[in-house]
Amino acid sequence: MIAEIIAAGSEMLTPFRQDTNSLYLTAGLNDLGVQVAFKTIVGDNFDHLTGAARIAISRADIVIFSGGLGPTEDDLTREAAAAALGIEVHPDPAILTALYKRFAARQMIMPPNNAKQADVLDGATLLENKHGSAPGQYLDTTVDSHRKIIILLPGPPKELKPLFLEQVKPRLAASLPPRHLARRQLRMSLIPESQVDARTSPIYKKFPDVETTILAGHAEIQLHFVCAKPTLEEAQARVDELSEKIEAEMEDAIFSSNGDSLEEVVLLNLGIRHLTLASAESCTGGLLAQRLTAIPGSSRYFLGGAVVYSDALKTTFADVPATMVNNLGPVSLEVAHALAEGIRARTGASLGIAITGIAGPTPGTGPDAAKPIGLVYIALADGNQTQVKELQITGDRERVRYWSSQHALELIRHHLL
Ligand code: ATP
Ligand code: MG
Repeated sequence: MIAEIIAAGSEMLTPFRQDTNSLYLTAGLNDLGVQVAFKTIVGDNFDHLTGAARIAISRADIVIFSGGLGPTEDDLTREAAAAALGIEVHPDPAILTALYKRFAARQMIMPPNNAKQADVLDGATLLENKHGSAPGQYLDTTVDSHRKIIILLPGPPKELKPLFLEQVKPRLAASLPPRHLARRQLRMSLIPESQVDARTSPIYKKFPDVETTILAGHAEIQLHFVCAKPTLEEAQARVDELSEKIEAEMEDAIFSSNGDSLEEVVLLNLGIRHLTLASAESCTGGLLAQRLTAIPGSSRYFLGGAVVYSDALKTTFADVPATMVNNLGPVSLEVAHALAEGIRARTGASLGIAITGIAGPTPGTGPDAAKPIGLVYIALADGNQTQVKELQITGDRERVRYWSSQHALELIRHHLL
């Protein structure tokens, strides 16, 4: 069973208005185990709307229209749906009477156009709209010997949402075979998307009943799995089986299989080992501390640290020898090493993490002048040993800074494994 949503309204084809109804409808359909395979946004044009309706009816089992049920010239959904289905509309006498009464109550004469709000697709059930004048419609029919469910809903979200929740969802639930969706997410960091796909696609291709999507961005790759089955247990079992196979292939590259962020995973692992962390950040200016402290409860494991942006503060706050900074440059392996050890000693944390680098676009000065933009050193000190990583990060200032913080989190995570 797949669904298509058609959002009617020219305003949503401008840069100023977004179709949000389809997001609400998608969540509701997913609850019923129905996946949305297509979404279409169409302007208020009869031919375009009819064309979109024809295509939707040909390729989806459930087609939900949002909008275009009002009384004005550009409200064309009823007419277009009827044309696409090759059926007629007929006026519903009760609705027509209610409309006349509504106007009479306000001592107004109903404009003739309003009467079309009482038009019903032949065979459709009317869905009462308690928050507006245009009722919804629900048609369970057969087109070319395929069952099709066609639903028309008013555009204003305040009308569409209660109508869908109270009248459409129960009807769909009663008439569809039970389907339940299970989901799972695997998250990886600092690994190219192409590599993830090359290693995982031979595995997920063997699970055609699980839909796999790869999402990349923010120094992270996510694998999303969705599976629909008659029971949640069956669906969950398939998703879990695939997930375990991919975890076995990607091993430590996966930092989370339950939706946790990298920051949360790092804090969780510090907690498990009863360890604390402090940071000395130069080129990231506190970005790492910001990411960690954004997580509630982080204060138990992240003590704090220093933004040691100037050369002098590297000495003042982390006891890096001034001669070292002057001779080797602040962006050097030795300074990173000393920063990590210095911040650890100063704060009494179990682990000290340091980041120093050239984020660009302006080059470094002094001994750093000849070093490339994107050169970053990350150091981690645990009291016994101190490891330093030299990185060459490509991209603009923002990217170099974010990836630096990501590498730092990954260095800590791997250290704790
Ligand atoms: P009305 O009787 O109010 O004319 P209608 O069913 O004809 O109802 P539209 O005219 O298409 O609905 O839309 C009315 C308003 O509802 C729009 O101005 C917009 O604010 C909102 N709306 C319509 N479609 C959507 C959508 N897909 N997502 C979010 N808001 C929408
Ligand atoms: Mg309208």
